[in-house]
Amino acid sequence: MESKYKRVLLKISGEALAGEDKFGLNEEMLKKVALQIKEVRDMGVQVAVVVGGGNFWRGRTSKNMDRATADYIGMLATVMNAMAMQDACEAEGIPTRVQTAIEMREVAEPYVRRKAMSHLEKGRVVIFGAGTGNPFFSTDTTAALRAAEIDAEVILLAKKVDAVYSADPEVDPKAVKYDELTHQEILEKGLGVMDSTAASLCRDNHIDIHVFGIAQEGNVMRAVCGEKIGTIIK
Ligand code: UDP
Repeated sequence: MESKYKRVLLKISGEALAGEDKFGLNEEMLKKVALQIKEVRDMGVQVAVVVGGGNFWRGRTSKNMDRATADYIGMLATVMNAMAMQDACEAEGIPTRVQTAIEMREVAEPYVRRKAMSHLEKGRVVIFGAGTGNPFFSTDTTAALRAAEIDAEVILLAKKVDAVYSADPEVDPKAVKYDELTHQEILEKGLGVMDSTAASLCRDNHIDIHVFGIAQEGNVMRAVCGEKIGTIIK
């Protein structure tokens, strides 16, 4: 199999990292994801990663907390995931750098676009933590922003669910799976796969998104090779 892309941005939701545990970090899942990253990196694909934080905390679902504070907590949660992901990657022999959008030099490099691109060119996997560094945004928007900044050819949106559905398939048995969608359809149908800020940023910058389930081994490779798994948004 041959890769369709030279540089990809892999977005891993926090939920996917929790695996069966539903909360926190599942080390088996971390290993599974790391092995999938290794597979495509070994093919010579440059891989940048954005991690979510929903396995620990999401600002938008907080109840009484000041929203900005709740969002900063969410961003810190993504740094925990980034560090765990780095550890899992390095255990598989993948050279990795974490860059955070909120400076914490004791644990990671600060985000510097040109440095991130230089790491990628040297074959290092770069994991972006702390989202965009701004409250009121999501890590899907971070994925769109970073993909545009580093010239990634596609966003691989790795999730717990295996595709985009008309409704949550775990709640609604009549939910219909979409094979292909446009960014505009995501916005018009109000699909929950990503927030409207992320969808419109991708639409405006012509960034294709490939949504698929991360739990199935080999899926990152399949997506990178252009296999029609999950849902393709373009
Ligand atoms: N977050 C933020 N700004 C960003 C990215 C993330 O404030 O640029 C916060 C926000 O509270 C969000 C949380 O971090 O709910 C975790 O990210 P997200 O919900 O996107 O994670 P996922 O659903 O992908 O696990």
